[in-house]
Amino acid sequence: MQKVKALQADTSDFSSFHQIVIERRTLHPDDVAIDIKYCGICHSDIAQVEGIGTAFQHPVVPGHEITGIVSAIGSDVTEFKPGDRVGVGCFIDSCGKCKYCLAGQEQFCEKGFVSVFNTPDYDGNITQGGYSQSVVVKQHFVLHIPDNLSLSLAAPLLCAGITTYNPLKRYGINGNSNIAIIGLGGLGHIAVQFARRLGANVTVLGHSESKRSEAAQFGASNYEILQDENDFDRLSNKYDFILNTAAVKLDLDNYLKLLTVNGIFCFVGLTMDEQQFNIFSIFDKQGTITVSNVGGIAMTQEMLDFAAKNDVKPKIEMISIDDVPSAYQRILDSDVHYRFVIDMSTLK
Ligand code: ZN
Ligand code: ZN
Repeated sequence: MQKVKALQADTSDFSSFHQIVIERRTLHPDDVAIDIKYCGICHSDIAQVEGIGTAFQHPVVPGHEITGIVSAIGSDVTEFKPGDRVGVGCFIDSCGKCKYCLAGQEQFCEKGFVSVFNTPDYDGNITQGGYSQSVVVKQHFVLHIPDNLSLSLAAPLLCAGITTYNPLKRYGINGNSNIAIIGLGGLGHIAVQFARRLGANVTVLGHSESKRSEAAQFGASNYEILQDENDFDRLSNKYDFILNTAAVKLDLDNYLKLLTVNGIFCFVGLTMDEQQFNIFSIFDKQGTITVSNVGGIAMTQEMLDFAAKNDVKPKIEMISIDDVPSAYQRILDSDVHYRFVIDMSTLK
């Protein structure tokens, strides 16, 4: 056992965050120990602290956008060595035997994957996440961070990156694609970059002028403001793929007008509010409404390599560990450009 410092929330009140000492397990033969340098703050961290969703409990040490340096390896580890630059994303174990694990889709493991924080590990211990000095993870679930990608910028890719890259790949977005992305926040600003680098013509759909120039900086060819019915009518039958990154209830019937025949509308921004639509909004054009989960480990590594090669860079605001409660509030107030990353050296 190794004792390490961490940041824990005792209740759903952000002011309950405080530093504690937690234990990381002694290395199993296939384990990698990682000194955590940075951890991104994801919306789902906040949901877990607030107790929104299905599985949650307090206290909680959140964090699933982890990057750092390998400090030690177990005797059977072949893929990593001390000093390697690595990352850990949303999950840290799965059965490894079911058809989904064998297909590299560990996120759908029949036994249930083990989240990096706030779920029972297969040994029964509750997992504790990346707001800490170190973590011990089975080597299969550790990612290589390419040399030309900084550890701080790589952190948000471990959740926001793979969440947006996965559907773009799954639906074959390429140079022939004319796509729209709803929302230009933590997910959206990375989605625009990936879609552009995959060759797509990208339009960002927003509500105000304020993000027009930033959308262009990230690679969007167009920026459209949708305020009333006329705006939706003007853009009808235009996009063969729409990625919704906004975690709000949408006027879905209006957005579905924008799809081409056989067009796909995919949710990655999630809200507990019900999303409603009329079936005839997709009937005439045989549209598809779908969602995308995170990606598997192999896809996550592919995403990191693609990001490094194609200069996809999250735009981050670095914060200290003491800033976490106020950062949570700022995310809820949509006051973040575009992802908070915690400098873990401030955990003292
Ligand atoms: Zn996340
Ligand atoms: Zn499995």
